[in-house]
Amino acid sequence: MRRTLVAGNWKMHGNSRSVEQLLGELKPSVAASAAEVAVIPPYLYLSQAMSLLADSDIAVGAQNVCKYRGEGAYTGEISAGMLKEFGCRYVLVGHSERRALFGETDECVAEKLAVALEQGLQPILCVGESLEQRSAGETLRVVGRQLQAVLQGVNQPLDDMVVAYEPVWAIGTGETASPEQAQDVHAFIRQELATFDRGLSAKIRILYGGSVKAANAEELFAQPDIDGGLVGGASLDASEFAAICKVVN
Ligand code: PEP
Repeated sequence: MRRTLVAGNWKMHGNSRSVEQLLGELKPSVAASAAEVAVIPPYLYLSQAMSLLADSDIAVGAQNVCKYRGEGAYTGEISAGMLKEFGCRYVLVGHSERRALFGETDECVAEKLAVALEQGLQPILCVGESLEQRSAGETLRVVGRQLQAVLQGVNQPLDDMVVAYEPVWAIGTGETASPEQAQDVHAFIRQELATFDRGLSAKIRILYGGSVKAANAEELFAQPDIDGGLVGGASLDASEFAAICKVVN
């Protein structure tokens, strides 16, 4: 049985005051949700989020991780070991913004995923096609390639991995994939995982991301292969994010 996960990616938003306010409102309002709830703040607010959530079930994740192991001369980077020591449960890898704006390749994403797993973090692998790729009928080829880079490139058990299907054209645009469009790709991802390892496929959660809001979450999460959501913009609004978490029962 896969427990629904709703994770809020705050991206590069917020300040100490807004973090306090957002989490203060969120804590009581998601306490009764059947979903596992996680927030993914910018690095600098991880410590504050961790303290504010110490008495809550809300998990904390990071938005990025260094692909290199251990410590070393990697100015500006944060290691998987540091995130683990800090109490992070999740870490995003391969978000489309990192692939597009920071040049992260499939190979780099696989390296980051491997170091995260080695340190006991649960990596959330983001995959998804651009509008041009969808229009050209290349959705499954692109998503398949992104997934295979990890399945073939990571040399350790993948049981703790989460996959997030995030069509790039739906991220931050207000345009959501229809439940059928999303389910088709999720079923494909599940099938690819099954071909790799049947047991893994039944276990791994596949989230949908791309303009998820309270108004569309219920229908999306009701799809058989959608195990929750990776939520960007709507996760910055406590009542909207709580309403998304509450559709899970
Ligand atoms: C995201 O950043 O992962 C995301 C899905 O953003 P949004 O919900 O704003 O589309």
